[in-house]
Amino acid sequence: MTNIDVKNLNLWYGSNQALYDIEMLIPHKSVTALIGPSGCGKSTFLRCINRMNDTIPNCRVEGSITINDTDIYDKSVNVAQLRKKVGMVFQKANPFPMSIYDNIAYGPKIHGVPKSQLPGIVEDSLRASALWDEVEDRLKTNAMSLSGGQQQRLCIARTLAVKPDIILFDEPCSALDPISTNQIEKLIMELKKDYTIVVVTHNMQQAVRISDMTAFFYLGKMLEFGPTEKIFKNPDNKETLDYVSGRFG
Ligand code: ADP
Ligand code: MG
Repeated sequence: MTNIDVKNLNLWYGSNQALYDIEMLIPHKSVTALIGPSGCGKSTFLRCINRMNDTIPNCRVEGSITINDTDIYDKSVNVAQLRKKVGMVFQKANPFPMSIYDNIAYGPKIHGVPKSQLPGIVEDSLRASALWDEVEDRLKTNAMSLSGGQQQRLCIARTLAVKPDIILFDEPCSALDPISTNQIEKLIMELKKDYTIVVVTHNMQQAVRISDMTAFFYLGKMLEFGPTEKIFKNPDNKETLDYVSGRFG
């Protein structure tokens, strides 16, 4: 069971504290949405789950995040291995400037998967990201020639290719048109059968459509976390209610 158990997580950028005492048990094989106004720490928190924060100078974390019985902040943790298990997809699709095929084969290759297995992994990943039918006859073309929505699905395929347990999405549809957004939303709902998914979104309708659980972040604190329906219809917290009913944002 790949739950994400967050205990007493605090984070500082230099002397500025950006996360305060975050406590969450993010459930296995479900979609958890992170909502809240800009600058409240959603991306910061997401990056903590695969230690992307390590790449930011002067960023310091206290507390723990336990995934599959391992505290990922323990000194013994292999961060490359962690990021293989906890994939990340960003707002702006970031394909490598190489062919569609090579984009997806890249990760498995650097993790030592034999060359003979790569074509199967590429096909499986593209099928799972609902892109195969659109690209099967042009796998050798440059990925930069794809549309924005296709590039985003390619990035999802690239993440799937290394067989993660968890996929983190940071506003994956913010740069996309409504049709591409709908494709990505459907894909996320499909992927939750096999993966634990956390999605940052500033689109509240999107959170309602795709997520099982929602966490409301405000000023670096996680103010409320619960079933999406409860958070949007009947939250316990006044700030949550004000935010989900559009009184600030
Ligand atoms: P959100 O994703 O909710 O919009 P962020 O996690 O990006 O919020 O930012 C939370 C706070 O941390 C903000 O005050 C932001 O300015 C600060 N912050 C984010 N990234 C960095 C960074 N790399 N260095 C310093 N401060 C940062
Ligand atoms: Mg953000």
